[in-house]
Amino acid sequence: MQVLYKSTRGKGEPVTASVAILKGLSDDGGLFVPDHIPELDVSVEQLAGMSYQETAYEVMKLFLTDFTEEELKNCIRNAYDDKFDTREIAPLHEADGAYFLELYHGATIAFKDMALSILPHLMTTAARKNQVKNEIVILTATSGDTGKAAMAGFADVPGTKIIVFYPKHGVSPIQEKQMVTQKGDNTYVVGITGNFDDAQTAVKKMFNDKELASELDQAGYQFSSANSINIGRLVPQIVYYVYAYASLVRDGRIKNGQEINITVPTGNFGNILAAYYAKQMGLPVHKLICASNENKVLYDFFTTGTYNRKRDFILTTSPSMDILISSNLERLIYRIAGQDAEKCAGLMEALSKGGEYTITDEMKAQLSDFYGNYCTEEETKETIAHIFKNSRYVIDTHTAVAAGVYSKYVQDTGDHTPVVIASTASPYKFTRSVMDALTGNTEGMDDFALADALCSLSGVKIPQAVESIRSARVLHDCVVDAQDMPATVKKILKIK
Ligand SMILES: *Cc1c(COP(=O)(O)O)cnc(C)c1O
Repeated sequence: MQVLYKSTRGKGEPVTASVAILKGLSDDGGLFVPDHIPELDVSVEQLAGMSYQETAYEVMKLFLTDFTEEELKNCIRNAYDDKFDTREIAPLHEADGAYFLELYHGATIAFKDMALSILPHLMTTAARKNQVKNEIVILTATSGDTGKAAMAGFADVPGTKIIVFYPKHGVSPIQEKQMVTQKGDNTYVVGITGNFDDAQTAVKKMFNDKELASELDQAGYQFSSANSINIGRLVPQIVYYVYAYASLVRDGRIKNGQEINITVPTGNFGNILAAYYAKQMGLPVHKLICASNENKVLYDFFTTGTYNRKRDFILTTSPSMDILISSNLERLIYRIAGQDAEKCAGLMEALSKGGEYTITDEMKAQLSDFYGNYCTEEETKETIAHIFKNSRYVIDTHTAVAAGVYSKYVQDTGDHTPVVIASTASPYKFTRSVMDALTGNTEGMDDFALADALCSLSGVKIPQAVESIRSARVLHDCVVDAQDMPATVKKILKIK
C-alpha cells in the first residue's frame, strides 16, 4: 500500500516520499509524517537470515513506496559499503547486562553516518524521479559533527554539491581538522567569524531568499537540506532497530516475539522516534527509554507534560545532545494529538512565541511507550568508568548518558526486559572526556596522544577516521564574515 507524507501543521495535499525527501520541510513549516505506519511484511525468522543491506530494503520499501526496487537497492548498495569498517554495519556488543548497538562504524565514527551515507543517494534518485534537472546544492551550518558527516555522505556523489559553514573559533581542533581535510571535488568548507547561531541564521535566510533561488535556478542549481528532520534521514534509522532485534533472535539471545527495551541518548529526538516507528511497525518493543544530559527538556516534558525551552543552555561533555528544541518531537506530538494538524500547529506556535506548551491529559496518556530520565555530568563520567571496570568495554559520553539512564530505569521499575542501548559515537570521537573518566589525567596531552593512550588502555584499534587526519593535507582554508555568506555561495557556484 502506498505511503504518502503529510505536514504536521497543515492541510496541504499529501506528497510522495520522493517529493518529501526533496523538499525536506513542508511549505507551512511543518514536518512530513507518513499517513500511516506500514507493518513489517516479512517474519523475524526471515529477517534473522538477512544482511544489513537486505534488512534495509525490507524496511525502507514499506515507507518509500514510490521508489522502485532497483532504485532503492542501488541507494542501499552505494551507502552501506566499505565506508563502514565492519561488514555487519551495525554490530551488537554485550556488556554490563545490556546489548550495545554500535552505530558508529561509518566514515565519521558517529551514528549520523547511518542516515547521511544513504541520504545523498535517496535525494539524487528523488530528483531524477521528479524530473528535477538542476544540480542539488546542500547548504549546511554545523557546530562540528553534522557538517562532516554530511560531507562524507555527499562527497563525489554526481549531481550534488555541498557547502558547509562552521564557526571558525567554535569547534574542536579535531572537528576542524576533520572538516578542512575533506576530500571530494564537490565539497566546500567555509569558516565564519561568528558563532554557530550566526551561521545557522544566515543559512536559513538563504533557504528563504526567493531572489537567490531564482538566480540559482537560472544557473542550474537548487538548494536542499540534509537536516535531521528530512524523512530521508528518519527512515534509514528505523532499519537498525529491526536489524538488532533479528540479530538477537538469530544469536539465541531472545526468543522470537519476546519484547525488548530500547534506550536512546537523545538530542533532536530523531533516533528515538525511529525506534518508536519500529515499534509501530510491529517490532516487539516494550519501553522506549529517552536519555537526556543536563539539558533535560525532554525528561521534564515526559514527567510533567510541559515542554519548556526557557532555561539556560548547558555545555556538556555530550555536545551532540546539547539541544533545547528537539525538532523531531513535533512528529510525536502530531501523533498523540490524534493526527490533528491544527492542534499540533497551535502547540508549535506557542513554543516559538512563548517558549513553552503543555499537552492535554488525553495526549499525555499516550506517552506510556516512553520513559524519560537524565544523567548529570558526574554520573556520565562514573558510567564510563564503571562499565570499563566491569566489562572492559569503552563507551563514549553520549552512550554513557544512555547507559546511566538505563540503570536508573531498572532501579525505578525493576524491569529486566532485555535492553538494546543505542551506542551513538565511538569513544575515539570524544577521547578527551573518555580518557578523563577512565584515568582522570589528560593534562598536557593532545588529542592524538590521548587516542594512543586509549588504544593501549582498551586494546581497541584506533579507527581509520582518526588515523587518517593525523597526516591529512588541509584542502579548505576559506574564512568569511557571516554577512558575506550569500556572496560566498555565489562565488563557489560561479554565479555572476
Ligand atoms: C546527533 C547525536 C545524538 C542525538 O540524536 P538525535 O537523533 O538528535 O536525538 C546522540 N549522540 C550522538 C553522538 C549524536 O551525534
